[in-house]
Amino acid sequence: MENFKALVVDQKDGSIEAALQMLKRETLPEGEVLIKVAYSSLNYKDGLAITGKGKVVRSYPMVPGIDLAGTVIESVSPDYHVGHEVILTGWGIGERHWGGYAQLARAQAKWLVPLPTGLTMRQAMGIGTAGLTAMLCVMALEAHGLTPDQGEVVVTGASGGVGSVAIAILAKLGYHVVASTGRVDMHDYLKRLGAQNIIDRAELATPSRPLETARWAGAVDTVGSQTLASILAALKYRASVAACGLVGGNELHTTVFPFVLRGVNLLGIDSNMSPLEERREAWARLVRDLPLDLLEEMIEEIPLSDVAAFSQQIVEGRIRGRVVVDVNA
Ligand code: NDP
Repeated sequence: MENFKALVVDQKDGSIEAALQMLKRETLPEGEVLIKVAYSSLNYKDGLAITGKGKVVRSYPMVPGIDLAGTVIESVSPDYHVGHEVILTGWGIGERHWGGYAQLARAQAKWLVPLPTGLTMRQAMGIGTAGLTAMLCVMALEAHGLTPDQGEVVVTGASGGVGSVAIAILAKLGYHVVASTGRVDMHDYLKRLGAQNIIDRAELATPSRPLETARWAGAVDTVGSQTLASILAALKYRASVAACGLVGGNELHTTVFPFVLRGVNLLGIDSNMSPLEERREAWARLVRDLPLDLLEEMIEEIPLSDVAAFSQQIVEGRIRGRVVVDVNA
């Protein structure tokens, strides 16, 4: 394949434009491994990059897409050979280095993870960065002592990508999951994923006292801002919140009382630069702990030509679950 289709974002007169283009293979960036991409996915960060709503892209023109799954077609790395099926999430692709919204991608071998046995490339992209992050959140909570007998675990931004996967994993592991959502029409979906209770996201978005009644045994928070402050104030003694997102705002106003009187933990989660060993463990856990029928229920598949429109929807909080992108459609 000498020429390939890609979505390219560029900056023109201060505004961001995204367009499908045919590119030549020699325009690809440096890297040890050339990958024929099968699927990518749409994450909140991709929405920010393509709409220009967030400063994600570091140099233009850029092929966005922070996730990809595909087959190795050339390699100078001893670790990967022609025909290997691989996953690449994060490491700055779609931000600093051309990413997954293209039929071809070139990458460093150390960024890749072999496609885990038990997953198709489409399923891997159904999981993508959002699902990997959900798993990293659960692993961090477990590492800080969370077990299913301790009580309710709240998941915010519940109908989104990270939230949906976190709910399905936690429910499979036997946790009592409380989903926090702003959308009444998502209640049935969230219950199918395994949420036992649902709360209106407005409950967590109103200013809290420094310490509220201790309710949460654990939390996965994708919202940030007041929601994260409210969770901190209502964590049980020595409980933890895994904070990974900012859809509600990037500021955090709280007090030290939950930390010094209840010994709670604020666990920061980053998937982008997560070390290889942690990623491999997380993917192995995803194969084991994420029911594939529920993953299928979360997935909407779109062609590359629809990515720009769906980017607008994701930054407006209107996507349900996960969007898989067929880059060859
Ligand atoms: P989605 O857009 O898929 O989901 C976000 C969900 O948050 C929405 O579906 C909605 O759920 C809720 N929401 C939207 N707007 C608001 C708002 N203003 N206030 C409160 N809730 C809102 O995004 P993702 O799940 O992919 O990502 C979620 C967050 O996690 C993002 O901030 C993203 O950047 C971050 N993230 C961080 C990673 C990391 O490594 N740290 C990796 C991946 C994502 P509902 O309608 O149910 O309320």
